Amino acid sequence: MARVYNFSAGPSMLPESVLKKAQSELLEYGSSGQSVMEMSHRSSVYDAIIRDVESSLRRVLAIPENYKVGFFQGGASTQFAMVPLNLMTTGKADYIVTGNFSKKAAEEAAKFGEARIVASSKDRNFTYIPDVKAIDYSKDASYLHICENNTIFGTRYAELPQVEGVPLVADMSSCILSRPTDVSKYGLLYFGVQKNVAPAGMAVAVVREDLLGRAAESVPTMLNYKTIIDADSMYNTPPCWCIYMMGLVLHYIEDEVGGLAQMEKRNNEKAALLYDYLDSQEFFTNPVEKKYRSVMNVTFTSPSPELDKKFCAQAEQAGLVNLKGHRLVGGMRASIYNAMPRAGVEKLVEFMREFERENG
Ligand SMILES: *Cc1c(COP(=O)(O)O)cnc(C)c1O
Repeated sequence: MARVYNFSAGPSMLPESVLKKAQSELLEYGSSGQSVMEMSHRSSVYDAIIRDVESSLRRVLAIPENYKVGFFQGGASTQFAMVPLNLMTTGKADYIVTGNFSKKAAEEAAKFGEARIVASSKDRNFTYIPDVKAIDYSKDASYLHICENNTIFGTRYAELPQVEGVPLVADMSSCILSRPTDVSKYGLLYFGVQKNVAPAGMAVAVVREDLLGRAAESVPTMLNYKTIIDADSMYNTPPCWCIYMMGLVLHYIEDEVGGLAQMEKRNNEKAALLYDYLDSQEFFTNPVEKKYRSVMNVTFTSPSPELDKKFCAQAEQAGLVNLKGHRLVGGMRASIYNAMPRAGVEKLVEFMREFERENG
């Protein structure tokens, strides 16, 4: 068996040691006589698992006491609706649109109130992040929503907007756990887990306590943050396996990597390998303004769509898979999340050099 280097934007690679640990516990978790997949979510064994996962997340992300954590089904896309349903108390919210997901989030919010797009980088096909200091924010917005790392366009915020009295809400699906995060800068942050945290199947929200309990009576029970959070994510059957896998990843980050500062160092080094190479030649181009380059998703194009196609096909033969860019951008995209080994990026850069020599 030869495992490939998978550059998919999500679901994406998991650390090999995590997969092996899951494999070793697949038939029997501890001395429970059963798999986590088969276990009652109300059992004491599972209760210990879910509690450990939440406390591990709190430790790794350094989540302050006055923030609650919840595990939600429906992915990050359901969060696009839950945020306005729970937080849009003034009937208004501000949105910064920096790509496809933030656009979708704004469109979803517009179903429930006034979602004002206060800034957008659409004019240059989302290759930069608007200057957060130069934006005319609404005084009466219930919150300000951003997408911190733009998975499709390969950009990320270099600086977070901070508006007095207006909580910051961030979609962190493709950057969570990639570096230390100052949670206190956010009113609420959420992420789908399938990029950097676990297999697909849920989203996690971290919510400042005072923002809970504001949803209208008419909000469906399962779409109210309070329902899930008050029940310690056990209001109904949670995505048990996914939560367990998230625990293994958190232990990997703590015990093998040494925490988020170390994780960031590794990620910065991997991204630098790719960007330094891109900057050193003229065959491939990356359109993103340097200051806003994503450390997780690196986009690039060759001189023609035909060569892009050839690149992806040959890369696949070489064990470098899922490099095709999103249809909105074209070209290629290398998603180099936490679990992508440095050796995978080195092999990709080597392959790019070779391809450039043969086709340049
Ligand atoms: C992948 C992604 C989403 C969509 O997540 P789902 O869990 O598929 O709904 C939303 N936002 C960002 C930033 C993403 O990367």
